[in-house]
Amino acid sequence: MQKRHFYIVLLVFTGVLSSGWGFFGHQQINRLAVFTLPPEMIGFYKKNIRYISEAAVNPDRRRYTVADEAARHYLDVDHYGDSALYKMPRYWKDAVTRYTEDTLKAYGIVPWHINTMYFRLRDAFMLRDPAKILLHSAELGHYIADAHVPLHTTENYNGQLTGQEGIHGFWESRLPELFAGNYDFFTGRAAYITNPQLAAWKAIEGSHLHLDSVLLLEKRLTKKFGEKKFSFETKGKQTIKVYSVEFSKAYHKALNGMVEQRMRDAIKMIGDFWYTAWVDAGQPDLKALIDYVPTEAELAQRKKSLDDWKAQRFNVRPEADD
Ligand SMILES: [Zn+2]
Repeated sequence: MQKRHFYIVLLVFTGVLSSGWGFFGHQQINRLAVFTLPPEMIGFYKKNIRYISEAAVNPDRRRYTVADEAARHYLDVDHYGDSALYKMPRYWKDAVTRYTEDTLKAYGIVPWHINTMYFRLRDAFMLRDPAKILLHSAELGHYIADAHVPLHTTENYNGQLTGQEGIHGFWESRLPELFAGNYDFFTGRAAYITNPQLAAWKAIEGSHLHLDSVLLLEKRLTKKFGEKKFSFETKGKQTIKVYSVEFSKAYHKALNGMVEQRMRDAIKMIGDFWYTAWVDAGQPDLKALIDYVPTEAELAQRKKSLDDWKAQRFNVRPEADD
């Protein structure tokens, strides 16, 4: 009995900690967004595709070390009452006037942070600063991907209010890990966005409209599956309780392509934002930046943020580098 209790805790924790497509999903999404780019951009991004993929998860790593970070990953739309999805002010200043900054930060700011990141990326293109272009591209990709996850738009983000604890990681990590191998990720060419702020809201709207199905279908199948909902898997020396493959298959089927579609939409929107920032910066010549290699200082900075995260997350001291 004691053991069982431990497994459940682990499962629930995985859901919260891997918040936002999991590491696997975020890296895939950023990587695939590169292939939506036009010829003038794709060379530079392909050359740096490893960094673009790996740095996709930086914002999640910072959640435990930077106080302001967490709120950038979600928006609890339902906190603001019925029809909030349609009534909430789309622009930051109007939203602050109506709700105050403290309230907004308490219930999440992802659509506004996407807009902030768009400006940072546009400015990096204007400066022709390759390190900043890559950094902001990768991180903007993270927040756009998070905005595409239905459970990032609700206070009931892990099913904790409806007895469905664990559903967060189930939907956004376990399902893509099991099934993304069969998804069609050809999304077409990146397109220009006339209003990045409203585009960010489109992602939230799409996500929030799926929320009821995400929760209802899981609840219905839980009744049907009973004890077969969970199984145990061994990873290395650890045995963990997971949603069984059968349950995952049934849920994935019931969702009728939703996870695939949200991933595809995220990939396309990330490409659109990168392209738009580049156009709005006057289409700087990225071919001239293609031979860029990070400076020692940039590498040191990347390593430091990784060490900070490891220290916090695993309680380990950074290794010596040599
Ligand atoms: Zn996130």
